[in-house]
Amino acid sequence: MVNLLQFDRSGLADFCAELGEKRFRATQLFRWIHQHGERNPAAMTDLAKSLRDRLAAKAAAVPLPVASEQVAADGTIKWLFDVGDGNAVETVFIPEPGRGTLCISSQAGCAVNCRFCATGHQGFNRNLATSEIVAQLWYAEFELRRRLALAPGERAVSNVVMMGMGEPLQNYAAVVPALRIMLDDHGYGLSRRRVTVSTSGVVPMIDRLREDCPVALAVSLHAPDDALRDELVPLNRKYPIDELFAACRRYLERAPRDFITIEYCMLDGVNDSPAQAEALLALLRGDDSPLRPGLSCKINLIPFNPFPDSGLRRSSPARIAAFAAVLQHGGIVTTVRRTRGDDIAAACGQLAGEVQDRTHVGDRRERSTAARAEHRIAAPASRRESAGGRGTERTLP
Ligand code: SAH
Ligand code: SF4
Repeated sequence: MVNLLQFDRSGLADFCAELGEKRFRATQLFRWIHQHGERNPAAMTDLAKSLRDRLAAKAAAVPLPVASEQVAADGTIKWLFDVGDGNAVETVFIPEPGRGTLCISSQAGCAVNCRFCATGHQGFNRNLATSEIVAQLWYAEFELRRRLALAPGERAVSNVVMMGMGEPLQNYAAVVPALRIMLDDHGYGLSRRRVTVSTSGVVPMIDRLREDCPVALAVSLHAPDDALRDELVPLNRKYPIDELFAACRRYLERAPRDFITIEYCMLDGVNDSPAQAEALLALLRGDDSPLRPGLSCKINLIPFNPFPDSGLRRSSPARIAAFAAVLQHGGIVTTVRRTRGDDIAAACGQLAGEVQDRTHVGDRRERSTAARAEHRIAAPASRRESAGGRGTERTLP
């Protein structure tokens, strides 16, 4: 059975052509699937009976099985979708007055292995297919429309953020058609400003996204310098901050917004000192180097959301407020992300789903922790002191 959720409109037109149908039929079909939530071609009544029969024999919009649903005290909903072979991915709906944001996964696990992320800790199994990415939105939209008894034409999901499990720009080939389906006026009709790709900094793919499908971009920075970012976001060793910022500036030439969102996870004693706030400000304004211009951005500080065995702590509210004040006084719009759904482990970085790790990240982590422990002899007594100044040695737990 061909899963119709895998096709953007031009892919669906190709599929219609393969069936010997006119390509424009794809638009009708696409609307049935993504505007009416219809799974079964036999029920698409304005298509010719012969086409319906041929389609029904071969194809359907096949959703992902829901393994579980949890609803948090604040109304946040987390679904766990079964993607087979013991893997499951999580999707989170965050209701707010006047909008509904859906946080979508792009991979079963993640290979980037950021130090502070539950998904990274789980390792990596595989990329999701376009149909599996779109199925998360399809289910949420039509399930919520039904539950909330929305009037025809009313939408449940107004914003999509690719901030669930996985690094979307390491699954580029599947993510781009999924984005096109979200943006298509005959599909979900979301504006480019309301669809955000969040990346840990896959520089070449930021450039490709700029050409292929520029949507709002969020970049997970988390550190004011390469030395610390190398430790927190291992991808930084391949694409250091200067290269990342250059790619962001190129992206802005085509982006639907005139700023990049910088995400910065607040880790107690690791990246949250006043000196690090100053360093971050200088980095973003380009004050620290005559060769590098600043970056047009807004900052979103994310209080670290703990997960088992992370060995890290969330910065205190006072520390976060002081950090934010430095940036704000420096002229950079700074927000602190409100934690949503943490009672059901649905907050940023807590998504773990079920991942049959094929990368043995757990084994590698144990080895590197042991190696770090051997080299820790010179570490200062307090982590906060060690993280305070730039250029001083930093030791992560
Ligand atoms: N892989 C992409 C998108 C998924 S993560 C990326 O890294 O950008 C979405 C956001 O949650 C990222 O900014 C990520 O750094 C942040 N995050 C990860 N773990 C977190 C945690 N434990 N607490 C708070 N934020 C976290
Ligand atoms: Fe992957 Fe993003 Fe988590 Fe890093 S923060 S491990 S890139 S999902």
